[in-house]
This record gives sequence, C-alpha cells and structure tokens, in this order.
Amino acid sequence: MNIVLFGPPGVGKGTQSDNLVNELGITHFAMGDILREAVKEGTALGLKAKTYMDSGKLVPDALVIGMIEARIMDPEVTGGFLLDGFPRNVSQAEALASMLEKHGESIDRVVFMDAPEAMLLKRLSGRLICRACGFGFHRHYSPPRKEGRCDRCSGELYQRDDDKEEVIGQRLEVYGEQTRPLLEYYKALPAFRRLDASGEMTAVYAELMKAVKN
Ligand code: AMP
Repeated sequence: MNIVLFGPPGVGKGTQSDNLVNELGITHFAMGDILREAVKEGTALGLKAKTYMDSGKLVPDALVIGMIEARIMDPEVTGGFLLDGFPRNVSQAEALASMLEKHGESIDRVVFMDAPEAMLLKRLSGRLICRACGFGFHRHYSPPRKEGRCDRCSGELYQRDDDKEEVIGQRLEVYGEQTRPLLEYYKALPAFRRLDASGEMTAVYAELMKAVKN
C-alpha cells in the first residue's frame, strides 16, 4: 500500500505516520527528516537545503525530487510506503506521479489532514524533539516525564529552529501559497480522503486508519 499524507505544518503528520507505518508494515519517508539528516551529515545537498529550511521556505524541487525518488525506488523498499511532507507543491506532485508511473507503481491513498490555524500554532510552538532518537514530545500535550530528556532513550530534547515563532508564520504562509493548492490537484482522485485532525491524537489516529482502509 502506498500512501501520501499532506496538510499544514503542525497538523500531526509525523506523529500519526509513525504509528501508521508500524501497524501497516510499510516504509515511512518523511521529507523533513530526510533533509534534516542531510543537514546533520553536512552533505552538499544538506548545506544547500539548510538556508531554505532555516527561513521556513521550501527547498528547491530539483533537490527534493531526486532525494525522494532514490528512496522510493530502492529495491529494498517492499510492501509499500508512506510519504509525509512530499509532495509539497503541484510540481512535486506531478513529478511523483511520473516517477511512480515509470516504475509501475501508484498511490492507493492521499490523505489530507487539516486543523484550525490557532491549533497549528499551539502544536508547533510547544513541540520538542529528541536529538538522539528523533521521538517527538509536546510541552503541554505530551510532556516528557523528566524535563528536557527523552522518555525512550534519555536523549536531550530540543526545539527545532523552524518551530520558533519567527519562522512558524513564514511556514504557514508558504503552506497556504504552495501546499494547500494540492487539495485541488488531488481531491477528484478516488484515492483522496479528507481528515479533520483537530481532535485528540488517538481519535485522529482511528479516523486516519478508517480513511486508509475504506
Ligand atoms: P517538515 O519537517 O515536514 O516540517 O519540513 C521542514 C522543512 O523542510 C520545511 O519547512 C522545508 O524547508 C523543508 N521541506 C520538507 N519537505 C519539503 C518538500 N517536499 N519540498 C521542499 N522543502 C521541503
């Protein structure tokens, strides 16, 4: 099963994806994580991407399309995949459609997750991530047991630079201008499902599962 998950930053794509891929036994490709990894490793692509990411802008299509294609088409990826954070504009969606067609694959579900902007702001500004294992927490909704430390591996928790207030506004603007138009692109497809992601995490997950299975 191949799934695309899209929606505004802070809507919970990453959190929900982690559970979904475990339950379905498919591979998770989170474009933001792939880019942050490249930044951490200091690769040429990572260095180029960093300036865009730090300012809340989209990394140029030419960089991200190549990175995602290499992963999707890896022969070790069997049983399907979930794309989270890709595509993020219509030209990436077109590139995805043609790369899948070229390799005889298709998208089984495109799920659009949405929530009111005030909620997105609250979710983004309280988000904390473990430097060691990448697990996510939230200052108010799912705080770690010990302040500043990951429950799973005791790693140090940090706030992403682009989750700071100055950058959040820019990310939401970019979302409205470039990513939200994907709704028009995808909504007529039989694979399309829309999900209200404003509820509590487990309730949203149950709805997501239904959207994927029905
Ligand atoms: P995320 O972790 O999904 O919020 O992504 C963090 C940042 O990575 C975004 O603000 C963009 O700068 C960059 N990014 C992630 N996915 C894409 C994409 N599909 N196209 C361009 N830039 C992206």
